[in-house]
Amino acid sequence: MKVTKAEIVISAVKPTQYPDDALPEIALAGRSNVGKSSLINTLIQRKKLARTSSTPGKTQTINFYRINDSFHFADVPGYGFARVPKSVKAQWGKMMETYFTSREPLKAVIQLIDIRHKPSEDDYNMYHFLKYHELPVIIVATKCDKVTKGHWQKHIKIIKEALLVDRNDPVILFSSQTSYGKEKLWNEIYSHLNH
Ligand code: GDP
Repeated sequence: MKVTKAEIVISAVKPTQYPDDALPEIALAGRSNVGKSSLINTLIQRKKLARTSSTPGKTQTINFYRINDSFHFADVPGYGFARVPKSVKAQWGKMMETYFTSREPLKAVIQLIDIRHKPSEDDYNMYHFLKYHELPVIIVATKCDKVTKGHWQKHIKIIKEALLVDRNDPVILFSSQTSYGKEKLWNEIYSHLNH
């Protein structure tokens, strides 16, 4: 996939601000610090289009990026901050619920999991929330450069077992450091955009 154009459309705080041009959309979800911004920047070959490491508690937005004028990436706020007030968590939940249950152009969700860590309860809940709403999920195991190749399959197994991943859902190894898995992920994204 050759990205010739990538631009931020809007950081939306409410649904009326979501793009309404009906372009197909791929959302990205994951715990904060999982490597989501880095993955977006790696996919689109821009150093800093997606902002890295947001601060807990700051205004939560869904950031929409338009790629090649043909589809959107929707970067949803990271979950799993340890010390976030209940009110912020509730606000996050409401925003996610609204987005994932009513976003018509949404074709698939990339859920990122750090390959080094066993998926958390938040990861589990996110995955099964998406499955419940019958959204196609692409699991991406990020930061695979941090684990030696010989241990990759062991970690993938832990992820699959902890999340109870559906046998039909892809689990893709990825590294923003080395770009490993980039083509495979693009192919997966493509198959959903053309569905
Ligand atoms: P986000 O909060 O999910 O958007 O995470 P970031 O993209 O900001 O990444 C969090 C931290 O992990 C940063 O210090 C990144 O440099 C680092 N990181 C992200 N992806 C990778 C990766 O594939 N390999 C390695 N080694 N570090 C990564």
